[in-house]
Amino acid sequence: MNLLKFIRKFPSEKICLESFAKYRLERGISCKKCESKTEHWWNLSDKKFQCKVCKSKKSYKSGTLMQNSKIGIQVWFMLIHLMTSIKKSMSALEVSRQLDTRYDTIWYAMHKIRCAMGKRDAQYKLDGTVELDDAFFVAVDLERDKDEPLKRGRGSQRTAKVMVMVESEKVAKKDIKSKHNKGRKMGFVKMVVMEDLSAPEINYEAEQALKPSVSVIADDWKGYRGLDQVIAKVKQTVTPPEKAMEHLPWVHTVISNAKKMTLGVHHSVSKQYLQNYLNEFVWKINRRNFASDPFERAVCMAVDSYWN
Ligand SMILES: [Zn+2]
Repeated sequence: MNLLKFIRKFPSEKICLESFAKYRLERGISCKKCESKTEHWWNLSDKKFQCKVCKSKKSYKSGTLMQNSKIGIQVWFMLIHLMTSIKKSMSALEVSRQLDTRYDTIWYAMHKIRCAMGKRDAQYKLDGTVELDDAFFVAVDLERDKDEPLKRGRGSQRTAKVMVMVESEKVAKKDIKSKHNKGRKMGFVKMVVMEDLSAPEINYEAEQALKPSVSVIADDWKGYRGLDQVIAKVKQTVTPPEKAMEHLPWVHTVISNAKKMTLGVHHSVSKQYLQNYLNEFVWKINRRNFASDPFERAVCMAVDSYWN
């Protein structure tokens, strides 16, 4: 949905409220008293749902991602629209200017959405052939930077380790029509911020992210040598930097684009929130070929999420 269509569809707080209530009624509302999903009435005048079984009332945002937030539903819709319709990412500062809302309110709301995006993507595991690699992202460690002098290079506290997994299927030679074709087709993606890149940590995350039947292709890093304990097949190849795009084309493309996003848009990303930024980046990549509108998907996700 482009901006013009969005404005035509959601021109006022009242229309956004009605639409939000419709999403909620369609997806089912849980009643705390009845301890189950029950049928509800919607009352626009007091902005409340009422359980048809026990007659208890609840606020229109209760039980959703928007619970306890001060932002009105039209601004929430605009925020979700900005975060899902634009191919690249927007900074909280820019969004707060555009929506004329306090920076910290917007910053917090954006991170709530990013957390929900991560939860949603965690429901699926990657399948088929998967390119796997790790990357170092520039990230400020808010806890440690306060009292430690800066170190340079790999041991620096200004880098965060990220494990990246990308479904990547070989394309038949006859189907390669352009010389820029990587020879492989990219599927779904996962990116996980890691405490360390030891074999047990890598195996643990691989088990969470991959179906046991997958076939992994990776470089020669020793941390990957125990991967065959948790997945079917591992093919490790010595990969000099000049061969990286040949051996692991999609994982390197994803890493390079994610780095551009974190540095170019968000400038100084802290280690504590890096996973959230990556959640947003990956959520968009994973839905790039979906026919349905990303806004609708994100609103349904926000309606389903319970935020504590
Ligand atoms: Zn009830």
